[in-house]
Amino acid sequence: MKIKPVRGTHDIFGEEIKKFNKIISEVKNTAQKFGFKELMTPIFESSELFKKPLGEHSDVVLKEMYTFNDRNKDEITLRPEYTTPMIRAAISNGLLNNLPAKFFGTGQMFRRERPQKGRYRQFNQINFENFGSNDFFADIEIICLANILLKNLLPDSNFTLHINSLGTRKNLEDYKKVLSKFFNDNKKFLSNESVNKINTNPLRILDSKNNEDKEIISKSPKLIDLISKTDLQNYEEIKKCLIDLDITIFEDPNLVRGLDYYCHTVFEFKTKELGSQDTLIGGGRYDGLIKTLGGKDMPGVGWAGGIERIMLLMKDVPNEESNIHIAILDPSFKIHAIKVFNFLIKNDFSVYWNYKYNLKKSLSLANENKASYLIIVGENEKINNNYSIKNLTNGKQVTVTIDKITDILK
Ligand code: AMP
Repeated sequence: MKIKPVRGTHDIFGEEIKKFNKIISEVKNTAQKFGFKELMTPIFESSELFKKPLGEHSDVVLKEMYTFNDRNKDEITLRPEYTTPMIRAAISNGLLNNLPAKFFGTGQMFRRERPQKGRYRQFNQINFENFGSNDFFADIEIICLANILLKNLLPDSNFTLHINSLGTRKNLEDYKKVLSKFFNDNKKFLSNESVNKINTNPLRILDSKNNEDKEIISKSPKLIDLISKTDLQNYEEIKKCLIDLDITIFEDPNLVRGLDYYCHTVFEFKTKELGSQDTLIGGGRYDGLIKTLGGKDMPGVGWAGGIERIMLLMKDVPNEESNIHIAILDPSFKIHAIKVFNFLIKNDFSVYWNYKYNLKKSLSLANENKASYLIIVGENEKINNNYSIKNLTNGKQVTVTIDKITDILK
């Protein structure tokens, strides 16, 4: 019986797992610098956590959720995104008493999308959320954090911050009506896919990837015309600060994001190096969402980034694997070898036991793995209670007792 991986899933190993772990460690580092605390939530939640808040007409809710009934008929969904579970967890555990409350998390998300490069059905996300602050510096801070993280992980890549303001939730509701009317009047210029969204989700037409939609989209009414002066001033300040922080921004009036809960600032870090799945990080403000999920009425701002997409752009991470190998020349010297193995592990060295019991094979494996030293355990070493250490960089070999080994390896 040969079982294949499920479509849209992938295993992570070799060079890729090194990249993955480097991302996680850089995320934790950056979070600590900015004062965000880690919050880990379950992989599945009650379906109702996602259905309404994400938008009943959003692609995720309509087509992509992995939903099933538990044995007692509770409807459960594998989390397709992390913001709503984080809010649910913050409310469930009383973590919103001291504001602002800043959290981050990393983990698997599940969406039944059409798999392609950079798009999977199970993928890993990084999430940063700041609950409880209206201050527009919260928007700047979280964008700045994303920028620093990407710069550290991808020093040789180019990415641009696309930014837009959606105004209040009311502005957005009014805009949807204006947009539905406009696209209804211009139906004949739209692709079939977009026509289907006119009355249910007209905002999604704005980021249609269909070429035939481009011209009519460029002529569509702009949301910015509905936004209040104060909100526009805030938006101007945010952009000014980001430019002062040396972040390359691209103002994108059609950027609306796929989920229903966004308002005011929305943003995406995009790259031209990945083909069609070009968004590395996306996020924005979601004032009102915490109240919808049963918490107090408080604002929030956050983002999610795709770990696999960052991995696609990352260079190989330098080798940090075991750099000392042990060559045991015959299985009968195992007990003598275990003494040195145990001693080195206790002294914080990484040691690789290769199960070869053959000098030539051990040497070739050590060289292949770019080991720095080979410890040889043969008959003489066993009789004299010592060990031979070969420096694989210069080829020199010495024989010493166990208490002298650490001096040589340092
Ligand atoms: P979203 O919640 O759709 O804004 O996604 C946030 C980020 O997660 C995106 O910018 C991608 O980097 C990543 N992402 C979303 N969907 C997928 C997927 N199906 N496969 C891999 N990465 C994804």
